[in-house]
Amino acid sequence: MNDQMTAYSPGSLSEAYAILAERAGTVKIIAGGTDLMVLMNSHLLEVAEFLDIWRLDELRGITDEGDVLRIGALATYTQLIRSPLIQNHAPALVAASRTIGAIQIQNRGTIGGNIVNASPAGDSLPVLAAYDAEIEIGSNRGTRRVNFNEFYTDYRSSVLEPDEIVLAVRIPKLRDRERDFFWKVGTRRAQAISKTVLAAKAEVTDSVIQSISISVGSVAPTVIRTHETERLLADQQLTSALIQQAGESIANEISPITDLRSTEHYRRTVTGNVLAKFLRQLR
Ligand SMILES: Cc1cc2nc3c(=O)[nH]c(=O)nc-3n(C[C@H](O)[C@H](O)[C@H](O)COP(=O)(O)OP(=O)(O)OC[C@H]3O[C@@H](n4cnc5c(N)ncnc54)[C@H](O)[C@@H]3O)c2cc1C
Repeated sequence: MNDQMTAYSPGSLSEAYAILAERAGTVKIIAGGTDLMVLMNSHLLEVAEFLDIWRLDELRGITDEGDVLRIGALATYTQLIRSPLIQNHAPALVAASRTIGAIQIQNRGTIGGNIVNASPAGDSLPVLAAYDAEIEIGSNRGTRRVNFNEFYTDYRSSVLEPDEIVLAVRIPKLRDRERDFFWKVGTRRAQAISKTVLAAKAEVTDSVIQSISISVGSVAPTVIRTHETERLLADQQLTSALIQQAGESIANEISPITDLRSTEHYRRTVTGNVLAKFLRQLR
């Protein structure tokens, strides 16, 4: 961290866009600061200029837009947990938010920060992937929407340009017959980075899987959808044999590594077990 720091604190989105257009690549956006402050404390952030977006009301609020919920990028985990809209229409996002850090982090950390920080272990990300969310992005050049599953290009890389701000995430509401699921495996229940984290959404009628989406974090360079396992399950009778086969399929489909939090073997085995848990719940 440099001794001389500049912080811009714009009061409107257009002001923020103008600063970013002029200083893109030099200025660093800061929201809740719960990821950035850790980097600063460890002297891993070589940045002298910050764009504090905390005052931008345009990035706040959770709104009902018919089939979709629009979640402002500055929505904190506490706001997500307490929102009746999220509780009713995307319960897995409440479950994910409850596992993030402790109360202090939940009060300050934002969904936009989790998305842009781009950690493969970001806990809200598998939910957004399983729900096929869309990210709303803005800059002086206009706004655009990107499918969440096309947002990340590689480890810690995304399609976000240096002059762009994530404005919101749009998440389709869970349909009447659909069920969703979130499960994080860490060293302990709270304050732990996941060893594997799985979110899913499915519709089952008369024991037949009508549709299913499954996403996993901490097992690849980015959060991933496991399309092969989804294809194996779609339109199939939900039998014990199929559940076992699906567990084996997802264990092979992911590409985890061994690191200081866990081993490759553990991650493959446990991810298979967690998927089996969801499928048994559906029965
Ligand atoms: C003790 C502790 C425990 C934690 N536990 C968890 C956990 O269990 N699970 C988990 O997933 N995370 C965890 N985190 C990480 C962190 O809290 C989350 O990733 C949080 O969502 C980050 O949000 P923020 O607003 O604080 O981001 P910031 O730190 O402000 O920013 C993070 C990154 O996103 C960029 N950014 C932020 N908002 C925008 C925007 N709207 N547009 C463009 N760029 C933006 C910033 O430039 C920066 O690169 C933990 C952190 C700490 C310190």
